[in-house]
Amino acid sequence: MKKPVLVLALGGNALLRRGERGTFEEQLSNLLRVAPSLLELSREYQLVVTHGNGPQVGNLYLQQESTSEAPPMPLHACVAMTQSLIGYLIQLAVNSVDPGARVAVVPTRVLVDPEDPAFRRPMKPIGPYYPEHLREALAARGWELVHVPGRGYRRVVPSPRPKRIVDIDVIRELLGRVDLVVAAGGGGIPVVERGGRLEGVDAVIDKDLASSLLARELGADILVILTDVEGVYLNYGRPDARLLTRLCASEAERLLSEGHFPPGTMGPKVEACVEFVRSGGRAAIGSLERALEVVRGVSGTLLENC
Ligand code: ADP
Ligand code: MG
Repeated sequence: MKKPVLVLALGGNALLRRGERGTFEEQLSNLLRVAPSLLELSREYQLVVTHGNGPQVGNLYLQQESTSEAPPMPLHACVAMTQSLIGYLIQLAVNSVDPGARVAVVPTRVLVDPEDPAFRRPMKPIGPYYPEHLREALAARGWELVHVPGRGYRRVVPSPRPKRIVDIDVIRELLGRVDLVVAAGGGGIPVVERGGRLEGVDAVIDKDLASSLLARELGADILVILTDVEGVYLNYGRPDARLLTRLCASEAERLLSEGHFPPGTMGPKVEACVEFVRSGGRAAIGSLERALEVVRGVSGTLLENC
């Protein structure tokens, strides 16, 4: 019998914990803690793993901005580099638990709309803070900058919505043929279509929204988003905070519109799950530490189509 398809989104804490610098060893050792769960899930499901790349692409960007000896790669190429790096770390971690496990890593391009309003209002800060005297030179590169008082200027890029997973056929082909497919890392490499060709653009796609789109395009049975909290809270951060163990999609939409879940963190996770359950699947948000329980629906927040 064919195994159900599970798309599992790993939050930033799978790779880096608070206070860590992001060395190779730190990231590998964090993934080693997750690897046994990934292997166990791969026995029950056709497993696709997605992941964030914020700190990794940030560090890569810092490195290449700190020298003029080598030409800097555009941001979309940096996303591609971090997809491969993190895919490699997942291979190492999984194979150190089971040397025979087959892990496929797919550099994944994700189509965005060049008319997406996000392109007119870049909001996602990336890279280092620059001093005032570099401002003009940076603007001449076509960069949008924001001024952060006391720290300097920082580049901001658009965060457009994912429209289509370009490499979906490759991912589908691999499903069930390997133990684990790593795809759409960092929300995917953003590309636009121009004159019948795909072109990379400097933007950052939200990894949760991209994971949801990937899950829908695959016709996945379950979407699980793992992060560094127990699940979705009402009144998060306040003394009366309450963990929601079940959440109706319609209720979630109401709470989203009332601003209960902030953009950039819990907002896109809830939105990603709403979109997925509306298309008929099961979705949950929970703690990375309890990956198996979240998948089994006994920990975290279960999103329901009601
Ligand atoms: P990830 O790397 O997993 O995407 P994020 O930092 O983007 O992690 O999102 C998880 C964070 O969302 C939590 O650490 C928490 O601080 C924040 N958060 C904001 N609102 C809520 C909420 N209503 N319930 C739970 N967590 C929330
Ligand atoms: Mg996030």
